[in-house]
Amino acid sequence: MNINFNVFEARVKEVRSSINGYCEEAGRQSESVALLPVTKNHPVDAAEYAFKAGFGMVGENRVQEAEGKKPFADPSLKWELIGPLQSNKVKKAVQVFTRIQTVDRVKLAGALQRHAEDSGIELAILLQVNAGRDPNKSGVSLEDASALMESAISLPNLRVEGLMTIAPLSDEEAVARRAFAALRECRDKLEIEFGVKLPELSMGMSGDMREAILEGSTMVRVGTALYGKRDYL
Ligand SMILES: *Cc1c(COP(=O)(O)O)cnc(C)c1O
Repeated sequence: MNINFNVFEARVKEVRSSINGYCEEAGRQSESVALLPVTKNHPVDAAEYAFKAGFGMVGENRVQEAEGKKPFADPSLKWELIGPLQSNKVKKAVQVFTRIQTVDRVKLAGALQRHAEDSGIELAILLQVNAGRDPNKSGVSLEDASALMESAISLPNLRVEGLMTIAPLSDEEAVARRAFAALRECRDKLEIEFGVKLPELSMGMSGDMREAILEGSTMVRVGTALYGKRDYL
């Protein structure tokens, strides 16, 4: 591991203090934004650091990578999938992850339903929306979000908790901010259309936490600001 636990703890404090500052700026309670440590491309120690520092969950973007680390981490630590999910990995994903943040198509929701049902569980999911209309990002389009929602909420073993997005990469803060605002507006529309609550807005990473929190993020997914640059495994 590239950093020791003390360095990690100090960075957690810094990131939390940034989050608190942005919450204050937004007129929001600091407890309204959760911090998800992103441990991808780091050894299992990264997850253990998070656990030791009091986090209940970590984010990973690959099924196989998380599957490989999970047995070596504390069994009470929960794992969330924040990367794209291929249909052939759905069965594994349902075994490894407590929540899948990247449900972006009807077919994937159906496959998750079948495996959740087989395992006798209710699986928490977020719908990933390409709120920044970025051709390089996955996620359902803003136009198709309603159809995906309609399908997902009809599936008895899936629980849709909210929406997730990744903002387009840009030097302009306004670009990310617009994408986050679009995700919030999409959520508000879906809540009215379907008469359900979608409390989770997973948006914001190390570089765009402020914009995300100002637009209503309830969970920022942070890797670099906690663990430093990723060494590729
Ligand atoms: C890697 C990743 C993050 C964390 O990004 P940092 O810039 O390192 O904070 C957040 N969300 C997703 C979906 C990721 O893949």
